[in-house]
Amino acid sequence: MLAGSPNFNLSEVLEASAPLTKATLNTEPYVSNIARALATMEAVRATLGHVPIKITSMARSAADNREAGGAEHSHHLVGNAVDFYPLRGLTPSEAFDILRQPGALRALKLDELVGYDGHVHISVDLRGRGKVIDKRTAATKPPTAAADVTAVAVAPPGDRAGCAAVVAIGSAAVLIPASLFAMLR
Ligand SMILES: [Zn+2]
Repeated sequence: MLAGSPNFNLSEVLEASAPLTKATLNTEPYVSNIARALATMEAVRATLGHVPIKITSMARSAADNREAGGAEHSHHLVGNAVDFYPLRGLTPSEAFDILRQPGALRALKLDELVGYDGHVHISVDLRGRGKVIDKRTAATKPPTAAADVTAVAVAPPGDRAGCAAVVAIGSAAVLIPASLFAMLR
């Protein structure tokens, strides 16, 4: 029997799966797959600090899926995938960065995790490969990689209240502590 879950009600599931009808979604493999996807979404929600989440897409018709494009979307055809974004508290990009941590991927048993600028895609099936794909553009991707960090000036010791360097991260110049600067170099 098709059902919602504590934080994702049935009407949200139906809306995110339109134009597939309730009668269609109340058959297998949809019922089992959607139940598993919602259980995973409850765990995702908890992992993200219980932020409110908007689900934008779950099960998709073949025609809808062709429009959306992309191989990872095939999971939507059988109800094994969810597209979502946090309504507040976190950006989609921040949510993706939390979920991609190895511990989170393992605990959630995700098959695929894909980060986009405006939403996060997860798929859940028995393979649970933990495959991560980053499709964010530079506009939303945080500059965490060492390659993105360039030292542009080093302040004299003791200057600027314990900060050792002015570092350009992306387009912003920031002061960082000496200990961190040593690690980055
Ligand atoms: Zn998707």
